[in-house]
Amino acid sequence: MDQIDIGFVEKCEPWKLESRFFPNKVGGKSAWLDLKDLPSAKHVECKICKNPCTFLCQIYAPYENNDDAFHRTIFVFICKNDTCCKSNENGNLQVFRSQLRRDNKFYPLEPPEEQENWRPDINATNFTKICHVCGLLASNDCGKCKLVNYCCPQHQIIDSKAGHKEKCSADDVNQECSATSTENTLQSLLFPEFELIIETDVSDDKNDTCDVNKEEEELKKYEKLVENGKAGTLQNCDDVDDDLLKMASGDEDEAFTDFQNTIRDDPDQVLRYNRGGLPLYITSKNKPNAIPNCEKCNGERQFEFQIMPQLLNYLNLPVDVKSLDWGTLLIFTCKNSCNIESGYCPEYIWKQDIV
Ligand SMILES: [Zn+2]
Ligand SMILES: [Zn+2]
Ligand SMILES: [Zn+2]
Ligand SMILES: [Zn+2]
Repeated sequence: MDQIDIGFVEKCEPWKLESRFFPNKVGGKSAWLDLKDLPSAKHVECKICKNPCTFLCQIYAPYENNDDAFHRTIFVFICKNDTCCKSNENGNLQVFRSQLRRDNKFYPLEPPEEQENWRPDINATNFTKICHVCGLLASNDCGKCKLVNYCCPQHQIIDSKAGHKEKCSADDVNQECSATSTENTLQSLLFPEFELIIETDVSDDKNDTCDVNKEEEELKKYEKLVENGKAGTLQNCDDVDDDLLKMASGDEDEAFTDFQNTIRDDPDQVLRYNRGGLPLYITSKNKPNAIPNCEKCNGERQFEFQIMPQLLNYLNLPVDVKSLDWGTLLIFTCKNSCNIESGYCPEYIWKQDIV
């Protein structure tokens, strides 16, 4: 069985989650890999409401034997508008791949030194203009002070209301206090920021396989009895448990049972990474149809990783109203991780829900 990695969220000092350290992270602003050719508001537009989607998470996943993907990061975005979130539809989601050769114009050849003061110049703001609110490529600035930039008119309005209007025309003393309230308001527009810790899944596969085999055996036994018209006698038999009877009668979703069993040992996992493997479906229904080929090379895409429903618990979502939701988010990327020269190449994401 292939090695599967699983991800957990953990609080972390913000500087460790900057581009220069090639982080795995959830929430806050994207830590861009290509620092210049960034996605714009249009690129990450929600297909339903047309607003820019919000950064959800990113994972650093280079290809060892592909020089074009010496550095490689996948970025996932989702629309925060809950009415755009529809069952088994992906219109409110966007995913991008960015990759660089080892020898590139942003990063040194050698790995970063994990120190706060190490190369703070390796930052998208030194290569292009980024939106003060969300971190996407900025197309316009505050016409008055020219000091802050925005990706779209909506974000300029949000920042203006959040305090930039006063800050822009205020003197230095007032600037500092309004800056704090501005930052708080703006941060609430993003998801809370965490480090994504990636570990190898060490839950005992052997036992799982045994369990499955045993269940299958039991099921076969049961089916045989049904065939022979003897199932009725089994209802009182201790050998066959309720779950199995449900499964045999079609009431139980096998994929769902398997999903529950697989995550039992690490119920807090928010991500499963299994490049080229199979997704862990949350149900046997609502699987993605044909996965479209890579937009760049027209080559095949393969499953790379999935985001688990547990991540929803860390996003500060409102609890009493309908909010963002998913069963699991399945990410499919170009199998060859083809060369994209610069910038961000769209990949495919499917939202699988139980119903
Ligand atoms: Zn939307
Ligand atoms: Zn923005
Ligand atoms: Zn201004
Ligand atoms: Zn490709």
